[in-house]
Amino acid sequence: MNASLDSTIDWARVRADFPLLTRQVHGKPLIYFDSANTGQKPETVIAAVDDFYRHHNANVSRAVHALGTEATDAYEGARNKLAKFFNVRGDELVLCSGTTFALNLVAYSWALPRLQPGDAIVLTRMEHHANIVPWQLVAQRTGATIKVAELNERGELDLDRLYALLTPEVKLLSLTHVSNVLGTVNPVREICREARKRGIVTVVDGSQAAPHRVLDIAAVGCDFYAITGHKMSGPTGTGALWARREHLAAMPPFIGGGEMIKEVRFEGTVFNDPPHKFEAGTPNIAGFIGLGAAVDYLSSLGMHNVEAREQALLAHATEELSKVEGLRIFGNAREKAAVISFLVEGAHAHDLATLLDLEGVAIRSGHHCAHPLMQHFGVPATCRASLAFYNTHDEVEAFVAALRKVRKLLA
Ligand code: PLP
Repeated sequence: MNASLDSTIDWARVRADFPLLTRQVHGKPLIYFDSANTGQKPETVIAAVDDFYRHHNANVSRAVHALGTEATDAYEGARNKLAKFFNVRGDELVLCSGTTFALNLVAYSWALPRLQPGDAIVLTRMEHHANIVPWQLVAQRTGATIKVAELNERGELDLDRLYALLTPEVKLLSLTHVSNVLGTVNPVREICREARKRGIVTVVDGSQAAPHRVLDIAAVGCDFYAITGHKMSGPTGTGALWARREHLAAMPPFIGGGEMIKEVRFEGTVFNDPPHKFEAGTPNIAGFIGLGAAVDYLSSLGMHNVEAREQALLAHATEELSKVEGLRIFGNAREKAAVISFLVEGAHAHDLATLLDLEGVAIRSGHHCAHPLMQHFGVPATCRASLAFYNTHDEVEAFVAALRKVRKLLA
């Protein structure tokens, strides 16, 4: 299949921007199909981090010297790039280490002081543990309960059943935009609108949406939206929480320390304005500058092109995998991102992944931090191939050929 048919972009040149993708693993060319776990980084991101440490390294918001100003400008510049990319305001974007931190921030600063016995939180069956455990901790401490929205046979949310759960005691609904296991894209706009009508605060985990789709957070209509930078070609330890300004103004700080204050006296502290109120301590400055470069990179490709490219790869991979005898794909949502979870009859997920690794193919096997979803399907683990725009149609074919080969070894 001709990859250039996907759009006007020369995808072979795009792939060449990612130095790691040229390496070999176990003497075979690497086929990296684990982008839902973490994305690979283009040269420009690596160069931005390198340039910061070589030429500008200083702490932010403290020193008046030239380096301090350069570091602060670059860091705040990255916040503004992210805000523009997601169509939100920079002062509504709390920079943090990733989705896990972002969701905990909402749990501890918004939910913990507000929820009471008798209140309820609604989650969905397809959540990552990062969007389950913080709410369990809140529920344990407040006496609130957790209700779970279930899936239909395609691995989509059953919307009628979800809306039926949104009863008056529900104060908060937290759900993923895109499932990291099934690839299901949830209709978050519609869901947030329904929740809002009922006065329910909504939190969206955008970890798997931000890297792969045109994302207008303002248009989602939620109260909080969390993203993680390392899945969108940025460095690890970067991410953000977008929140409506009224929430940020009303929420107490989560972590205390430097950078988040205006004045500290032993009698009491005056906190900085949001978003800085939630950004205590020295941040991952180089990481955010790298994330800014990642956003520039993705913008230069155009997220609609990224999405179209990944949809073409997904269709190809799904078609080829469907021809493999005894292979079961988990989830066939009508709207789906380029994530395919599967099992092959008679083969354990870890054995398949281990043997595929020897063929140079990197996929993930395990529970994908989604135990409740594994329980739903009655399996302990699946294999997951997750694709990104820098993958190729040739890789899809090589992956399926390798799968057929290793499967014979396990028979
Ligand atoms: N939510 C989803 C859907 C994810 O896929 C992940 C990462 O795998 C996370 C949350 C956690 O992201 P991080 O570990 O970067 O905070």
